Amino acid sequence: MKNISVVVPLYNEEESLPELYAWIKRVMEANHFSYEVIFINDGSTDGSWRVIEELKKNDPECIRAIKFGRNYGKSPALFCGFERAEGEVVITMDADLQDSPDEIPELYRMIKEEDYDLVSGWKKIRHDSKLTKNLPSKLYNATARKITGLKLHDMNCGLKAYKNEVVKSIEVYGEMHRYIPYLAKNAGYTRITEKPVIHQARKYGSSKFGLNRFVNGYLDLLSLWFLSTFGGKPMHFFGLLGSIIFLLGFISVVVVGGMKLYAICSGFRAPLVTDTPYFYLSLTAMILGTQLFLTGFLGELISRNSVERNNYKISKEI
Ligand code: UDP
Ligand code: MG
Repeated sequence: MKNISVVVPLYNEEESLPELYAWIKRVMEANHFSYEVIFINDGSTDGSWRVIEELKKNDPECIRAIKFGRNYGKSPALFCGFERAEGEVVITMDADLQDSPDEIPELYRMIKEEDYDLVSGWKKIRHDSKLTKNLPSKLYNATARKITGLKLHDMNCGLKAYKNEVVKSIEVYGEMHRYIPYLAKNAGYTRITEKPVIHQARKYGSSKFGLNRFVNGYLDLLSLWFLSTFGGKPMHFFGLLGSIIFLLGFISVVVVGGMKLYAICSGFRAPLVTDTPYFYLSLTAMILGTQLFLTGFLGELISRNSVERNNYKISKEI
């Protein structure tokens, strides 16, 4: 088994690749690590694949590469890299030279000696444009810390190190690469920490993610939180909320009806029930409550049929 697998997702990064690989190799050799670098060419339209083939020709032992038929995104690229990684420690790194391979030995040491499951990089001093990245990123990380309960300053840092078993136990999909530490935590790996890492300005090419990362990132965070909290028991959320709302509606319709009956029985001029707004409010509440309840029930039926319903992570059995 090799010491380290470096997983590098890339999309149109032809200029950086030779420099990046030479640097990784230098660090690995200086520290006597056995290693493999897995490049995942995520549907690049430039000459990235040609560059990778060239690199592989010179160093067939240490380089593995896959080429996607089209651009699927960073998460699918990481997923396929994780599937293939054979090193004891798996390190992910962006291909644009913004992450420094000089961090590898310390990350490796933290996983092996300090027994962490996951060490996430923290770009303490960022070299991205202030307005579009730094400020939104601070807000976003603060929200992520609250929701995930993980005290990380930079959840989405591309430079991270994992124990091999961690990457085999998580399924990164869609754009969930932003929340890998949370996925790991939900899979039961709780020894998670961060390490301040050097961050450099992009030397070649341009960023592949725009400002919409924050909107999409926020929605993904909500889905993950929801999935991990109520995913296995949808009725506990929808059923409870639906019942409460229905009950409120029901009580108020009883009150409205009761008042009408009382007026009729006492010989007063009884107003129409539709004269009061409470009638409409209770009607809406009862319909909404029923719908929420049914949503919960449908959720339960779906999760009963889910292939993952009895998929437990058993770490030991004797
Ligand atoms: N990337 C990828 N597929 C994509 C978009 C990006 O594999 O669809 C790679 C990209 O080549 C880089 C890493 O993901 O290696 C991070 O992307 P980028 O540097 O553009 O992100 P930023 O540094 O702006 O957060
Ligand atoms: Mg970058």
